[in-house]
Amino acid sequence: MGAVLNKRERRRRLLGWYDTSRRAMPWRALPGAAPDPYRVWLSEIMLQQTTVATVAPYFNNFIRRWPDVVSLAAAELDDVLHGWQGLGYYARARNLHRCARVVADKLGGRFPADETQLLALPGIGPYPAAAIAAIAFDIPANVVDGNVERVMARLFAVGTPLPGAKAELRELGASLTGTERPGDYAQALMDLGATVCTPTGPRCPVCPWQAGCAARRSGITGELPRRERKKPRPLRRGIVFWAVNRDGAVLLRRRPEKGLLGGMMEFPSTEWREGELDKAAAPDLAPMSGDWKERPGLVRYVFTHFALELTVMAAEVHSGEIDGAVWCPVERLGEYALPSMMKKVAAHALGAPGKELAA
Ligand code: SF4
Repeated sequence: MGAVLNKRERRRRLLGWYDTSRRAMPWRALPGAAPDPYRVWLSEIMLQQTTVATVAPYFNNFIRRWPDVVSLAAAELDDVLHGWQGLGYYARARNLHRCARVVADKLGGRFPADETQLLALPGIGPYPAAAIAAIAFDIPANVVDGNVERVMARLFAVGTPLPGAKAELRELGASLTGTERPGDYAQALMDLGATVCTPTGPRCPVCPWQAGCAARRSGITGELPRRERKKPRPLRRGIVFWAVNRDGAVLLRRRPEKGLLGGMMEFPSTEWREGELDKAAAPDLAPMSGDWKERPGLVRYVFTHFALELTVMAAEVHSGEIDGAVWCPVERLGEYALPSMMKKVAAHALGAPGKELAA
């Protein structure tokens, strides 16, 4: 346990462990088979900020409907957003579609086998660019996400708290990259972080890196990685309007293309701001006149940078044409790519808070 392993030995042990312990995943090529860059790219974009278990059915559904980048590029954006519903971060789905179009129209349907060129494509940030380069094209790349940061922090007993330690952890990750089986090494590291060197209760006795792990040697695996204390999220409030016409159709409008939930459908609402809510101003801010009545309770949602509390006001209104808005029968709301938060609003307005609409 006290040995210090050199890079070659570390890589050898991790790859040996991977050969017997690799996870089977729908997007992963079988041992010895060539990976499909489209599947690798699709999975890496889907997997950001979410788990393998969540992504698997979405991935399978996308592959069934759009088996290659050309078919995805030819799809309607609304269909792609609809298929993405529930994965969150819709800007990612929009960029996914844009990227598919660039690859299909400008690159002959082939993803570039180069990390820098991958990085230049829509929606491909540094992490997916490195992961795709390594996994799809077997190019040595430093693939570092939160899992890998945790492994490096423990392996080298880095006491600097995150996020300040990011650059240091990245360098440590780079110190272990190499030319032997780069794709398998990247996936092995991901698997190690996900299944062995887990956030709580790492399974050190089965870890291929237990010999030479500085945190294990010092008995501080549970303390690493350290983190700076997070500031509380600001709380924003707003009023959302549930406007139903005499035919039982509810008013939906499309959000601006740019910004949070860009291009998604929503129930009209006031701006979301910090501070007290001025409910008395609701009738002036509503999309149309009506006898607006507050539904008891609040709809709460947490975004990355703020928490949101929405008050729901409902009224029966006269139908009318509103730019960028549609009237949708309540029972067909599931056909629209509504963000999860707006599904909660609908459930609340329909008297079933906590439930989501069926797609
Ligand atoms: Fe993580 Fe334990 Fe392996 Fe060290 S020995 S890398 S702490 S699982």
